[in-house]
Amino acid sequence: MPEKIEVTKFHDWGIPFKNVFFIAGPCSAESEEQLMQTASGLKGSKVNVLRAGIWKPRTRPGTFEGVGKEGLKWLKSAGDAIGAAVTTEVATPEHVEECLKHNIDILWIGARTTSNPFAVQAIADALKGVDIPVLVKNPINPDIELWDGALERMNRMGIKKLAAIHRGFSTYETSKFRNQPIWRIPIEMKRRNPEVPMLCDPSHICGNRELLLSVAQNAMDLLFDGLMLEVHFDPAQALSDAKQQLTPDAYNRLINKLKIKKVSSESTDYKQHIESLRNDIDEIDHQLLKLLAQRMNNAKKIAFHKMKNDISLFQPERWEKIMESRVKDGLGQGLSEDFVSRLYQFIHEESLREQEQVLTD
Ligand code: PEP
Ligand code: MN
Repeated sequence: MPEKIEVTKFHDWGIPFKNVFFIAGPCSAESEEQLMQTASGLKGSKVNVLRAGIWKPRTRPGTFEGVGKEGLKWLKSAGDAIGAAVTTEVATPEHVEECLKHNIDILWIGARTTSNPFAVQAIADALKGVDIPVLVKNPINPDIELWDGALERMNRMGIKKLAAIHRGFSTYETSKFRNQPIWRIPIEMKRRNPEVPMLCDPSHICGNRELLLSVAQNAMDLLFDGLMLEVHFDPAQALSDAKQQLTPDAYNRLINKLKIKKVSSESTDYKQHIESLRNDIDEIDHQLLKLLAQRMNNAKKIAFHKMKNDISLFQPERWEKIMESRVKDGLGQGLSEDFVSRLYQFIHEESLREQEQVLTD
Protein backbone atom coordinates (compact mmCIF):
# COMPACT_ATOMS: atom_id res chain seq x y z
CA MET A 1 0.00 0.00 0.00
CA PRO A 2 1.60 3.34 -0.99
CA GLU A 3 1.94 5.79 1.88
CA LYS A 4 -0.31 8.80 2.11
CA ILE A 5 1.68 11.88 1.17
CA GLU A 6 1.62 14.53 3.92
CA VAL A 7 1.93 18.03 2.58
CA THR A 8 1.94 21.66 3.66
CA LYS A 9 -0.97 23.62 2.16
CA PHE A 10 0.08 25.44 -1.00
CA HIS A 11 -0.87 28.85 0.44
CA ASP A 12 1.36 28.18 3.46
CA TRP A 13 4.56 27.75 1.44
CA GLY A 14 5.47 31.38 2.08
CA ILE A 15 5.28 32.30 -1.61
CA PRO A 16 2.30 34.59 -2.12
CA PHE A 17 -0.04 33.94 -5.05
CA LYS A 18 -3.71 34.43 -5.93
CA ASN A 19 -5.85 31.66 -7.48
CA VAL A 20 -3.20 30.28 -9.84
CA PHE A 21 0.53 29.76 -9.15
CA PHE A 22 2.51 31.12 -12.11
CA ILE A 23 6.08 30.07 -12.85
CA ALA A 24 7.71 31.71 -15.88
CA GLY A 25 11.19 32.19 -17.25
CA PRO A 26 13.64 30.85 -19.79
CA CYS A 27 14.26 27.20 -20.51
CA SER A 28 17.93 27.82 -19.71
CA ALA A 29 19.93 30.50 -17.98
CA GLU A 30 22.27 31.65 -20.77
CA SER A 31 23.87 34.81 -19.40
CA GLU A 32 23.34 37.39 -16.70
CA GLU A 33 21.95 39.84 -19.29
CA GLN A 34 19.55 37.30 -20.80
CA LEU A 35 18.09 36.53 -17.36
CA MET A 36 17.87 40.18 -16.38
CA GLN A 37 16.28 41.20 -19.69
CA THR A 38 13.73 38.38 -19.49
CA ALA A 39 12.95 39.20 -15.86
CA SER A 40 12.50 42.92 -16.60
CA GLY A 41 10.14 41.99 -19.44
CA LEU A 42 8.11 40.12 -16.83
CA LYS A 43 8.05 42.92 -14.26
CA GLY A 44 4.45 43.64 -13.34
CA SER A 45 3.26 40.38 -14.99
CA LYS A 46 1.53 37.58 -13.16
CA VAL A 47 4.70 35.69 -12.19
CA ASN A 48 5.13 34.23 -8.71
CA VAL A 49 8.32 32.34 -9.46
CA LEU A 50 11.09 32.92 -12.01
CA ARG A 51 12.43 29.73 -13.56
CA ALA A 52 15.66 28.93 -15.45
CA GLY A 53 17.52 25.68 -16.03
CA ILE A 54 21.14 25.91 -14.86
CA TRP A 55 22.12 22.32 -15.63
CA LYS A 56 20.35 21.15 -18.79
CA PRO A 57 19.62 17.47 -19.44
CA ARG A 58 20.01 17.24 -23.23
CA THR A 59 19.09 14.20 -25.27
CA ARG A 60 22.33 14.34 -27.26
CA PRO A 61 25.78 15.53 -26.23
CA GLY A 62 27.43 18.47 -27.94
CA THR A 63 24.44 20.80 -27.46
CA PHE A 64 24.18 23.54 -24.83
CA GLU A 65 24.24 21.83 -21.43
CA GLY A 66 23.71 24.85 -19.20
CA VAL A 67 25.94 27.48 -17.66
CA GLY A 68 26.40 25.61 -14.38
CA LYS A 69 26.49 26.99 -10.84
CA GLU A 70 27.60 30.49 -11.93
CA GLY A 71 24.05 30.97 -13.24
CA LEU A 72 22.52 30.53 -9.78
CA LYS A 73 23.65 34.04 -8.73
CA TRP A 74 22.19 35.57 -11.90
CA LEU A 75 18.90 33.75 -11.37
CA LYS A 76 18.64 34.89 -7.76
CA SER A 77 19.33 38.54 -8.59
CA ALA A 78 16.93 38.47 -11.58
CA GLY A 79 14.23 37.10 -9.24
CA ASP A 80 15.03 39.79 -6.64
CA ALA A 81 14.78 42.47 -9.32
CA ILE A 82 11.11 41.63 -9.94
CA GLY A 83 10.21 40.46 -6.44
CA ALA A 84 9.74 36.82 -7.51
CA ALA A 85 10.95 33.61 -5.90
CA VAL A 86 13.28 31.51 -8.07
CA THR A 87 13.45 27.87 -9.10
CA THR A 88 15.78 25.60 -11.02
CA GLU A 89 16.13 21.91 -11.88
CA VAL A 90 18.26 19.63 -9.72
CA ALA A 91 19.36 16.19 -10.87
CA THR A 92 22.15 15.30 -8.41
CA PRO A 93 23.03 15.86 -4.73
CA GLU A 94 25.74 18.33 -5.90
CA HIS A 95 23.07 20.42 -7.65
CA VAL A 96 21.03 20.41 -4.44
CA GLU A 97 24.03 21.54 -2.41
CA GLU A 98 24.78 24.45 -4.79
CA CYS A 99 21.12 25.56 -4.84
CA LEU A 100 20.94 25.57 -1.04
CA LYS A 101 24.18 27.59 -0.89
CA HIS A 102 22.71 30.16 -3.29
CA ASN A 103 19.32 30.43 -1.53
CA ILE A 104 17.29 29.12 -4.45
CA ASP A 105 13.67 29.16 -3.19
CA ILE A 106 12.20 26.12 -4.94
CA LEU A 107 13.77 23.06 -6.58
CA TRP A 108 12.28 21.06 -9.39
CA ILE A 109 13.02 17.52 -10.48
CA GLY A 110 13.05 17.04 -14.24
CA ALA A 111 11.25 14.38 -16.23
CA ARG A 112 14.41 12.40 -17.01
CA THR A 113 15.36 12.32 -13.33
CA THR A 114 11.90 11.22 -12.12
CA SER A 115 12.31 8.21 -14.42
CA ASN A 116 15.29 7.07 -12.34
CA PRO A 117 14.56 6.02 -8.74
CA PHE A 118 18.29 5.94 -7.84
CA ALA A 119 18.65 9.60 -8.84
CA VAL A 120 15.42 10.58 -7.06
CA GLN A 121 16.52 8.82 -3.87
CA ALA A 122 19.95 10.50 -3.97
CA ILE A 123 18.25 13.91 -4.22
CA ALA A 124 15.80 13.01 -1.44
CA ASP A 125 18.73 11.94 0.79
CA ALA A 126 20.51 15.23 0.10
CA LEU A 127 17.35 17.09 1.18
CA LYS A 128 16.82 15.25 4.46
CA GLY A 129 15.85 17.78 7.12
CA VAL A 130 15.77 20.72 4.67
CA ASP A 131 12.56 22.76 4.46
CA ILE A 132 12.44 23.68 0.78
CA PRO A 133 9.60 23.24 -1.72
CA VAL A 134 10.18 20.57 -4.36
CA LEU A 135 8.22 20.27 -7.61
CA VAL A 136 8.30 16.85 -9.22
CA LYS A 137 7.76 16.60 -12.97
CA ASN A 138 6.18 13.46 -14.34
CA PRO A 139 8.62 10.88 -15.74
CA ILE A 140 9.28 10.87 -19.50
CA ASN A 141 7.33 7.60 -19.87
CA PRO A 142 3.64 7.36 -18.94
CA ASP A 143 4.24 5.56 -15.64
CA ILE A 144 2.23 7.00 -12.76
CA GLU A 145 3.98 4.80 -10.17
CA LEU A 146 7.37 6.41 -10.88
CA TRP A 147 5.79 9.84 -10.46
CA ASP A 148 3.94 8.95 -7.29
CA GLY A 149 6.99 7.06 -6.05
CA ALA A 150 9.21 10.13 -6.49
CA LEU A 151 6.79 12.23 -4.38
CA GLU A 152 6.81 9.50 -1.76
CA ARG A 153 10.63 9.37 -1.69
CA MET A 154 10.75 13.15 -1.06
CA ASN A 155 8.01 12.97 1.55
CA ARG A 156 9.77 10.15 3.45
CA MET A 157 12.78 12.43 3.84
CA GLY A 158 10.57 15.07 5.41
CA ILE A 159 9.85 17.29 2.38
CA LYS A 160 6.31 18.58 2.94
CA LYS A 161 6.16 21.44 0.46
CA LEU A 162 5.57 19.21 -2.54
CA ALA A 163 3.83 19.70 -5.85
CA ALA A 164 3.60 17.72 -9.08
CA ILE A 165 4.20 19.14 -12.56
CA HIS A 166 2.54 17.60 -15.58
CA ARG A 167 4.85 18.08 -18.62
CA GLY A 168 3.44 15.40 -20.92
CA PHE A 169 4.73 11.95 -21.86
CA SER A 170 6.95 10.60 -24.57
CA THR A 171 5.15 7.82 -26.47
CA TYR A 172 5.74 5.86 -29.65
CA GLU A 173 2.73 7.47 -31.32
CA THR A 174 3.19 10.54 -33.49
CA SER A 175 1.14 13.47 -32.35
CA LYS A 176 0.86 17.22 -32.70
CA PHE A 177 2.38 17.47 -29.22
CA ARG A 178 6.06 17.16 -28.35
CA ASN A 179 4.97 15.17 -25.29
CA GLN A 180 1.42 13.86 -25.20
CA PRO A 181 -0.67 15.22 -22.34
CA ILE A 182 -2.54 11.93 -21.56
CA TRP A 183 -4.67 13.94 -19.10
CA ARG A 184 -6.01 10.83 -17.37
CA ILE A 185 -2.61 10.35 -15.69
CA PRO A 186 -2.44 13.73 -13.90
CA ILE A 187 -6.16 13.33 -13.12
CA GLU A 188 -5.42 9.98 -11.46
CA MET A 189 -2.44 11.54 -9.59
CA LYS A 190 -4.81 14.20 -8.26
CA ARG A 191 -7.30 11.52 -7.19
CA ARG A 192 -4.55 9.65 -5.33
CA ASN A 193 -3.00 12.77 -3.78
CA PRO A 194 -5.75 15.39 -3.51
CA GLU A 195 -3.63 17.56 -1.19
CA VAL A 196 -0.65 17.75 -3.56
CA PRO A 197 -0.86 20.80 -5.84
CA MET A 198 -0.80 19.92 -9.53
CA LEU A 199 0.85 22.31 -11.97
CA CYS A 200 0.95 22.09 -15.75
CA ASP A 201 3.95 22.83 -18.00
CA PRO A 202 2.34 23.51 -21.40
CA SER A 203 5.74 24.45 -22.93
CA HIS A 204 7.17 20.92 -22.78
CA ILE A 205 3.82 19.33 -23.67
CA CYS A 206 3.43 21.45 -26.82
CA GLY A 207 6.97 21.94 -28.11
CA ASN A 208 5.69 24.97 -30.04
CA ARG A 209 4.03 28.27 -29.19
CA GLU A 210 0.84 27.73 -31.21
CA LEU A 211 -0.69 25.10 -28.94
CA LEU A 212 0.21 26.70 -25.61
CA LEU A 213 -3.02 28.59 -24.96
CA SER A 214 -5.28 25.61 -25.55
CA VAL A 215 -3.20 23.34 -23.30
CA ALA A 216 -2.96 25.98 -20.57
CA GLN A 217 -6.75 26.44 -20.78
CA ASN A 218 -7.26 22.67 -20.60
CA ALA A 219 -5.25 22.68 -17.39
CA MET A 220 -7.46 25.43 -15.96
CA ASP A 221 -10.58 23.48 -16.97
CA LEU A 222 -9.18 20.47 -15.13
CA LEU A 223 -8.61 22.60 -12.00
CA PHE A 224 -4.80 22.56 -12.07
CA ASP A 225 -3.27 24.76 -9.39
CA GLY A 226 -0.67 26.50 -11.51
CA LEU A 227 1.30 26.81 -14.73
CA MET A 228 4.99 26.73 -15.64
CA LEU A 229 5.70 28.48 -18.94
CA GLU A 230 8.98 29.10 -20.73
CA VAL A 231 9.60 32.78 -21.45
CA HIS A 232 12.68 34.30 -23.13
CA PHE A 233 13.20 37.96 -24.07
CA ASP A 234 14.24 36.78 -27.57
CA PRO A 235 13.01 33.21 -28.16
CA ALA A 236 14.56 32.97 -31.64
CA GLN A 237 18.03 33.30 -30.09
CA ALA A 238 17.37 30.82 -27.24
CA LEU A 239 20.07 28.16 -26.79
CA SER A 240 17.45 25.50 -25.93
CA ASP A 241 13.74 24.97 -26.70
CA ALA A 242 13.59 28.03 -28.98
CA LYS A 243 10.34 26.95 -30.67
CA GLN A 244 8.28 26.75 -27.50
CA GLN A 245 9.37 29.88 -25.61
CA LEU A 246 7.20 33.01 -25.44
CA THR A 247 8.27 36.63 -25.33
CA PRO A 248 7.21 38.37 -22.10
CA ASP A 249 4.49 40.21 -24.07
CA ALA A 250 3.13 36.99 -25.55
CA TYR A 251 3.17 35.46 -22.05
CA ASN A 252 1.06 38.34 -20.73
CA ARG A 253 -1.39 38.00 -23.60
CA LEU A 254 -1.74 34.27 -22.97
CA ILE A 255 -2.25 34.66 -19.22
CA ASN A 256 -4.85 37.38 -19.77
CA LYS A 257 -6.82 35.17 -22.16
CA LEU A 258 -7.03 32.30 -19.67
CA LYS A 259 -10.39 31.64 -18.09
CA ILE A 260 -9.87 30.55 -14.50
CA LYS A 261 -12.51 28.03 -13.40
CA LYS A 262 -14.09 27.20 -10.05
CA VAL A 263 -15.20 23.77 -8.87
CA SER A 264 -18.84 24.57 -8.06
CA SER A 265 -21.49 27.25 -7.97
CA GLU A 266 -24.31 28.16 -5.62
CA SER A 267 -26.61 29.20 -8.49
CA THR A 268 -29.87 27.21 -8.22
CA ASP A 269 -30.33 27.23 -11.98
CA TYR A 270 -26.87 25.67 -12.41
CA LYS A 271 -27.51 23.14 -9.65
CA GLN A 272 -30.88 22.03 -11.02
CA HIS A 273 -29.60 21.50 -14.55
CA ILE A 274 -26.52 19.64 -13.42
CA GLU A 275 -28.44 17.39 -11.07
CA SER A 276 -30.97 16.31 -13.65
CA LEU A 277 -28.31 15.68 -16.32
CA ARG A 278 -26.16 13.78 -13.84
CA ASN A 279 -29.10 11.56 -12.86
CA ASP A 280 -29.53 10.67 -16.52
CA ILE A 281 -25.84 9.88 -16.81
CA ASP A 282 -25.99 7.60 -13.74
CA GLU A 283 -28.81 5.60 -15.34
CA ILE A 284 -27.07 5.48 -18.74
CA ASP A 285 -23.88 4.20 -17.07
CA HIS A 286 -25.87 1.48 -15.32
CA GLN A 287 -27.32 0.36 -18.66
CA LEU A 288 -23.89 0.55 -20.32
CA LEU A 289 -22.38 -1.75 -17.69
CA LYS A 290 -25.31 -4.17 -17.95
CA LEU A 291 -24.83 -4.36 -21.72
CA LEU A 292 -21.08 -4.79 -21.38
CA ALA A 293 -21.63 -7.67 -18.95
CA GLN A 294 -24.03 -9.29 -21.44
CA ARG A 295 -21.47 -8.84 -24.20
CA MET A 296 -18.79 -10.50 -22.07
CA ASN A 297 -21.10 -13.43 -21.31
CA ASN A 298 -21.62 -13.99 -25.01
CA ALA A 299 -17.88 -13.86 -25.60
CA LYS A 300 -17.43 -16.55 -22.94
CA LYS A 301 -20.01 -18.78 -24.63
CA ILE A 302 -18.13 -18.30 -27.90
CA ALA A 303 -14.89 -19.28 -26.16
CA PHE A 304 -16.47 -22.58 -25.14
CA HIS A 305 -17.32 -23.44 -28.75
CA LYS A 306 -13.90 -22.36 -29.96
CA MET A 307 -12.34 -24.65 -27.36
CA LYS A 308 -14.45 -27.63 -28.41
CA ASN A 309 -13.40 -27.16 -32.03
CA ASP A 310 -9.74 -26.25 -31.48
CA ILE A 311 -10.27 -22.78 -32.88
CA SER A 312 -7.99 -19.87 -31.98
CA LEU A 313 -9.38 -17.27 -29.58
CA PHE A 314 -8.10 -14.43 -31.70
CA GLN A 315 -9.98 -14.08 -34.98
CA PRO A 316 -8.18 -11.42 -37.02
CA GLU A 317 -10.82 -11.10 -39.73
CA ARG A 318 -13.71 -10.76 -37.31
CA TRP A 319 -11.73 -8.25 -35.24
CA GLU A 320 -10.95 -6.20 -38.34
CA LYS A 321 -14.66 -6.17 -39.28
CA ILE A 322 -15.73 -5.17 -35.77
CA MET A 323 -13.31 -2.27 -35.67
CA GLU A 324 -14.35 -1.03 -39.09
CA SER A 325 -18.08 -1.27 -38.49
CA ARG A 326 -18.04 0.11 -34.93
CA VAL A 327 -15.96 3.13 -35.93
CA LYS A 328 -18.40 3.78 -38.79
CA ASP A 329 -21.39 3.37 -36.48
CA GLY A 330 -19.80 5.63 -33.87
CA LEU A 331 -18.93 8.31 -36.42
CA GLY A 332 -22.55 8.26 -37.59
CA GLN A 333 -23.60 8.91 -33.99
CA GLY A 334 -21.23 11.83 -33.56
CA LEU A 335 -18.47 9.99 -31.67
CA SER A 336 -14.84 10.43 -32.63
CA GLU A 337 -12.93 7.71 -34.46
CA ASP A 338 -10.15 7.85 -31.90
CA PHE A 339 -12.55 7.33 -29.00
CA VAL A 340 -14.45 4.44 -30.58
CA SER A 341 -11.31 2.67 -31.71
CA ARG A 342 -9.68 2.99 -28.29
CA LEU A 343 -12.88 1.87 -26.58
CA TYR A 344 -13.09 -1.24 -28.77
CA GLN A 345 -9.42 -2.06 -28.32
CA PHE A 346 -10.10 -2.04 -24.62
CA ILE A 347 -13.28 -4.13 -24.88
CA HIS A 348 -11.58 -6.61 -27.20
CA GLU A 349 -8.59 -6.99 -24.90
CA GLU A 350 -10.89 -7.72 -21.96
CA SER A 351 -12.96 -10.11 -24.05
CA LEU A 352 -9.84 -12.08 -25.00
CA ARG A 353 -8.78 -12.13 -21.34
CA GLU A 354 -12.20 -13.47 -20.26
CA GLN A 355 -12.12 -16.08 -23.04
CA GLU A 356 -8.64 -17.19 -22.01
CA GLN A 357 -10.03 -17.66 -18.50
CA VAL A 358 -12.73 -20.04 -19.87
CA LEU A 359 -9.98 -22.13 -21.43
CA THR A 360 -7.92 -22.38 -18.28
CA ASP A 361 -10.82 -22.91 -15.80
C1 PEP B 1 12.80 22.13 -18.50
O1 PEP B 1 11.86 22.46 -17.73
O2 PEP B 1 13.50 22.91 -19.13
C2 PEP B 1 13.01 20.68 -18.74
C3 PEP B 1 14.18 20.18 -19.10
O3 PEP B 1 11.89 20.01 -18.58
P1 PEP B 1 11.54 18.42 -18.61
O4 PEP B 1 12.28 17.81 -17.47
O5 PEP B 1 10.08 18.48 -18.42
O6 PEP B 1 11.96 17.91 -19.96
MN1 MN C 1 12.92 23.54 -21.77
